[in-house]
Amino acid sequence: MILVVVEYANGKVSKSTWEMITAARESGRKGPITALVIGSNIAAVAAEVAKAVDQVLVADLPALTQYDPEVWSAAVAQIATEGEASLVLIGGSRSGREYSPRVAIKLDAPLLEDVISLKATGEIITAQRYTFLARVTETIESTAPIAVATIKPGVFNAATPKAEAAEQFDVDLSLPAPRLKVTGKTAERSSRISLSEAEIVVSGGRGVGSAEGFTQYVEALADQLGAAVGATRAIVDAGWRPYSEQVGQTGKTVQPKTYIAIGISGAVQHLSGMNKSKTIVAINRDAEAPIFKIADYGIIGDVTQLVPAILTELKK
Ligand code: FAD
Repeated sequence: MILVVVEYANGKVSKSTWEMITAARESGRKGPITALVIGSNIAAVAAEVAKAVDQVLVADLPALTQYDPEVWSAAVAQIATEGEASLVLIGGSRSGREYSPRVAIKLDAPLLEDVISLKATGEIITAQRYTFLARVTETIESTAPIAVATIKPGVFNAATPKAEAAEQFDVDLSLPAPRLKVTGKTAERSSRISLSEAEIVVSGGRGVGSAEGFTQYVEALADQLGAAVGATRAIVDAGWRPYSEQVGQTGKTVQPKTYIAIGISGAVQHLSGMNKSKTIVAINRDAEAPIFKIADYGIIGDVTQLVPAILTELKK
């Protein structure tokens, strides 16, 4: 079987899970696509994901209320072993990147990290991933009977549900006692829609001039459009915006319906995080800026004049 470890938030299946299911379907690896839902009070998540896979395994235990890498990796490895999985897919989220190496070690399996494509031919799994500042796409092959892969978020299309829901099975686990405890959480003060789930993303770069300029132009336009905000590394490094908003090779990969780039030059490391957006709109005063090479609509001009004019039109 192909085991997909379900990622979810607030009782809803995350976009990364639908993308993993597409990766599983496209891989051509034999066996049922099996979703594994780990946590507590996860019936709604299991029911939602059941519409896109062949079977669902549910580990619903009070002891699994809080994510713990040691416990999660033990659970995934046990299920993969018992089900004789030949491929285990884990999200390329922070937690996925944290516990996937532990799963690979427990299963004595190679770890294909942050992959952007996955194909199985017989026993061999061929995967691709970006390397060398995303200028190079590396192809790697696993010849092991079982492989663990983390899927780069925002690269695969989201899977569409089928008409019928797959059967669900409760699983028994023998888990280690947790040794880590989260003792506090401070949420970011943001009521905005999440960057990786948004249909529209408005991103700003150094061309917005300052942190205040970002609020005035990028956030204002995002609010008007009900969009998420993104940023380039240049302005994250400058401290204008938090790292959680960074789009690109060392930030998030996004694939919205519309990506609006304001004052962004279009460095290759930024493009690798957004070039799969359906429609790209760029505003830049330099007609030679590389972003225009991939933009569907390019507006050459000054941010300080163009964005207020667009906002005025939108408010009408
Ligand atoms: P700039 O390149 O300085 O571009 C600013 C643009 O704004 C220019 O095109 C300019 O013409 C335009 N402009 C200026 N003023 C105005 C105005 N008033 N009106 C209209 N246009 C204006 N970058 C990322 O974004 N994400 C990553 O994940 C990432 N990872 C990296 C990893 C590595 C290992 C390295 C080496 C680099 C990485 N970078 C990343 C950095 C990347 O190479 C670029 O430096 C960065 O993307 C540039 O950001 P920028 O477009 O905001 O700034």
